Amino acid sequence: MKPKLFDIHSHLNFRDFDKDREDVIRRMQENGIWTICVGADKKTSQECVELAEKYENIFASVGLHPTDSDEKFSVDYYRELAKHQKVMAIGECGLDYYRIKNKELRIKQKDLFKQHIELALELNKPLMIHCRDAHNEVLEILNSYSHCYSHSHLRGNIHFFSGAWEQAQKYFDLGFSISFAGPITFTNQYDEIIKNAPIDKIMIETDSPFAAPAPYRGKRNEPAYVVEIAKKLAEIKNSSLEKIIEQTTRNAKEVFII
Ligand SMILES: [Zn+2]
Repeated sequence: MKPKLFDIHSHLNFRDFDKDREDVIRRMQENGIWTICVGADKKTSQECVELAEKYENIFASVGLHPTDSDEKFSVDYYRELAKHQKVMAIGECGLDYYRIKNKELRIKQKDLFKQHIELALELNKPLMIHCRDAHNEVLEILNSYSHCYSHSHLRGNIHFFSGAWEQAQKYFDLGFSISFAGPITFTNQYDEIIKNAPIDKIMIETDSPFAAPAPYRGKRNEPAYVVEIAKKLAEIKNSSLEKIIEQTTRNAKEVFII
């Protein structure tokens, strides 16, 4: 089975899908959609691995979200989970200064992020990065590992990209990609970045169940809607939908080595 469309970031394990998860996954299968189910703590990371075990078109990413500060990062636990052959990335990890203003908690986030980077380097897996209002700090931390770039191949993706064009360029220079979600269908805030970004550096995602794209805005999101993000990219980049789908799927397979 080959993917037609690749939704590189979703949370199919969330309770929002408990009543009809099988139907949601069937709609994905009918449309040739693959996804990476992304964990945000121990429990959800484990759930993502279980879904990946059960369905051919679902993969997993494991990690501790920066705002999930109640849980202590147990590196042994995540290392064991990440050894599973369908775990394609470490995360979501990163920095979220939008929700967290407290200085000490921000330092704690940086520390946690570094632990994820070190695990990704150790296992040679890409990072699934979450970042809000802290792109310069994320870039600074990634740069501090620049000595690791050649031999261990530090790499990954900035999901739900919300930064500026200058920051996107810096990520590209480090070999990272960025992905876009529902908001690009109802705000033109990212149009310039999308226009400028090299086509081999961008991917598409839903972040289901959140942030549904138009025309589903306000409803529960699901991976089958990822085609709406692809349509919008095609429109902004003045390209065909087929080309965008083909290229973003190829990028996803390359970044996550599937
Ligand atoms: Zn997410």
